Amino acid sequence: MRSEIFGPSPVTPTIDLDRHGVQHGFLRLPYSRDESAWGSVMTPIAVFRNGEGPTALLTGGNHGDEYEGPIALFDLARTLDVGSVSGAIIIVPAMNYPAFRAGTRTSPIDKGNMNRSYPGRPDGTVTQKIADYFTRELLPRADVVLDFHSGGKTLDFVPFAAAHILPDKVQEAKGFDAVKAFSAPWSMRMLEIDAVGMYDTTAEEMGKVFVTTELGGGGTARAQTVAIAKRGAINVLRHAGIVSGEIEHRETHWLDMPSGDCFAFAEDDGMIETMVDLGDPVTEGQVIARIHSIGRTGTAPAEIRAKLAGLLAARHFPGLVKPGDCVAVVAVRQEAGN
Ligand SMILES: [Zn+2]
Repeated sequence: MRSEIFGPSPVTPTIDLDRHGVQHGFLRLPYSRDESAWGSVMTPIAVFRNGEGPTALLTGGNHGDEYEGPIALFDLARTLDVGSVSGAIIIVPAMNYPAFRAGTRTSPIDKGNMNRSYPGRPDGTVTQKIADYFTRELLPRADVVLDFHSGGKTLDFVPFAAAHILPDKVQEAKGFDAVKAFSAPWSMRMLEIDAVGMYDTTAEEMGKVFVTTELGGGGTARAQTVAIAKRGAINVLRHAGIVSGEIEHRETHWLDMPSGDCFAFAEDDGMIETMVDLGDPVTEGQVIARIHSIGRTGTAPAEIRAKLAGLLAARHFPGLVKPGDCVAVVAVRQEAGN
């Protein structure tokens, strides 16, 4: 269908996505450049297929500076026993592979933000071509989609798995059930700040069960957050009935993002002073951060106040901020579980 409208994809998998057994290969995308005239972007992919059952698509590195997903997925692709699989698992540890290699959020080739490039184009930029391949070949094969994110170099989050509020309540409930199975310390009913062009939206519009995460940040990964990612991936696969074994349930606390009032943005240049730490409770109107002028002494800092009561779910990571930077996200604790 996409090929009738847009023409064929330039991406060629080096493995047969539908063959049984374990395959490790690449999504090869021609990319002619100074260093390699007939060169390609080689995005690693692993496929585990055995018997009958649903298909899961697991991805990390949608943004190239977020590491829990790639660590957990490279590890899973190396260690998973295909004998425990009923159905198929497609693993792409680093979706925006050029960005991942560069350690940057967006692609160094075209500055493409993968999660604003969906559904993609086969005749577009490198980032759009990769997105198009996921839209036409990988997402249609999947029943369950798990896409790992973290805060990257500029944000840090309390570790949570999330699904979106959706118009189809049956699909929405399946998403939240999968989030619960993931068993991160926090589970989020997520509101997007900027949903256009997202992988999430494309998958959800296809009717897929979609789970995403924010597992930390700062352009690195911690032992605790990597453990959450590894456990969450296998838990979601078990929940979907694709991998045998018991789900390792952990206590999770549900959070909600009821409106755009969750987000706080800087209006000033300067140095940020965090006044509460991640996970700390905040009251409406509380000063959660201050931005200090760094140009001169003797000036009062700008105050960032919480617009609603809840807890600090995310914060700006580097010490310096610019106007427009998201400096904090306040989420609302839900009393009862899902
Ligand atoms: Zn991300």
